[in-house]
Amino acid sequence: MSDYDVVIVGAGQAGAQAAIALRQLRYQGPVALIGDEDELPYERPPLTKAYLAGEKSFERLLIRSAAFWQEKAIDLRPGCRIVAVDPAARRVIAADGTSIGYRRLVWATGGAARRLDCPGATLARVHALRSRADADRLAQELPAAQRAVVIGGGYIGLEAASVLVGAGKQVTVIEAQQQVLARMSGTMLARFLEAEHRSRGVSLRLGTTVDCIEGRDGAAHGVRLTSGEFVAADLVIVGVGIVPAVDPLLAAGARGGNGVEVDAVCRTSLPDIYAIGDCAAHTNAFADGARIRLESVQNANDMAGTVARSIAGVAHPYYAVPWFWSNQYDLRLQTVGLAAGHDLAVLRGAIDARSFSIIYLRQGRVVALDCVNATKDYVQGRKLIESGATVRSDLIADSAVALTESPQGEGGPSTRSFI
Ligand SMILES: Cc1cc2nc3c(=O)[nH]c(=O)nc-3n(C[C@H](O)[C@H](O)[C@H](O)COP(=O)(O)OP(=O)(O)OC[C@H]3O[C@@H](n4cnc5c(N)ncnc54)[C@H](O)[C@@H]3O)c2cc1C
Repeated sequence: MSDYDVVIVGAGQAGAQAAIALRQLRYQGPVALIGDEDELPYERPPLTKAYLAGEKSFERLLIRSAAFWQEKAIDLRPGCRIVAVDPAARRVIAADGTSIGYRRLVWATGGAARRLDCPGATLARVHALRSRADADRLAQELPAAQRAVVIGGGYIGLEAASVLVGAGKQVTVIEAQQQVLARMSGTMLARFLEAEHRSRGVSLRLGTTVDCIEGRDGAAHGVRLTSGEFVAADLVIVGVGIVPAVDPLLAAGARGGNGVEVDAVCRTSLPDIYAIGDCAAHTNAFADGARIRLESVQNANDMAGTVARSIAGVAHPYYAVPWFWSNQYDLRLQTVGLAAGHDLAVLRGAIDARSFSIIYLRQGRVVALDCVNATKDYVQGRKLIESGATVRSDLIADSAVALTESPQGEGGPSTRSFI
């Protein structure tokens, strides 16, 4: 017999939103939200932004208050790590050996911060930044630290660097690729951000790899590069991506590898088991149907809605334009769409003015925008991506011309012309 109609494993962004969405859809059955952190569900983005900067309290990160979960009869079970799934018995097994039965299981476990596998990776004063506990540990050490090395020039690393610079620290960012944000963005945006970080005093080391982290008395005191150079550090932050937390599901037989594979309504290959958020490998309409994982609040929230509708009996395929944001210094970066595979990048506005957009086109169609302090472009450009409009690159480059659709636009088909 099942203990719950719906068991959600992972009480982060996607898991919490799935529980909320179920109740919004008036789903009445017993729902458990199980998470291995000792916290109420909270939002992670501020961990490298306002929370790390000490400008936002943890309470303001909470997705909902403690009272909300009670009112909605969502059985919140913090501090509970699920280590195995038994799909035949329809039970999940916790680390303490107890098991919990389900009728439907939603796997929403995100990922663990990827660790370096070089010597010194587990020394004290080497930090990941994935959870509140990580951010608190780092914040505790910050006052005594003067020099920080950030390994990884992705969003996490760059945001952390900007907060640390704001706190008066001497920061070195080490990135193995020849540009920052290599996985996510084009060169134009990368070069702009690199210049911004350098102008704030960050020592940016591109195309540079780490040999080891050197320690003294069990704690990191610097990073040795493969070139032999040594960069002294009072603390090290490692931001080199995540490993999706899907081992128990894969061990139970779910199809996957880098994440667990899901179909259009977030079902895995196992009966009545769904997966959502960072750990779900799905075919995305905005990636030309390629199977990808997205690590974003947008994806977590929209998949939460998709799974809740599936469970509540009003299934609707996942279809949502990807978007993401990042704050670094006084820059608000907003990204919409997926730039991978673009054949043209058009600059709109002036980089020197620190308010511009880069519009990515594939065969004349707008597939993505990176907007820096340019929210209007973001809002208008998003509609172009949704409608699959084709554009004239000379016109979209002119920031005096609005990115709005032509009046005859009907929405929908991917062949319509624009401007
Ligand atoms: C520092 C930081 C900054 C970010 N900034 C942005 C941003 O600016 N914009 C943006 O769009 N996105 C940002 N993201 C990404 C965004 O937060 C994630 O994409 C989102 O949280 C994914 O939601 P999720 O529910 O899939 O995973 P998570 O929110 O990570 O939740 C998963 C939960 O499951 C728990 N769990 C894992 N395994 C188990 C288990 N076996 N048993 C029980 N519980 C388990 C985890 O501990 C965690 O609490 C940021 C992420 C981080 C870490």
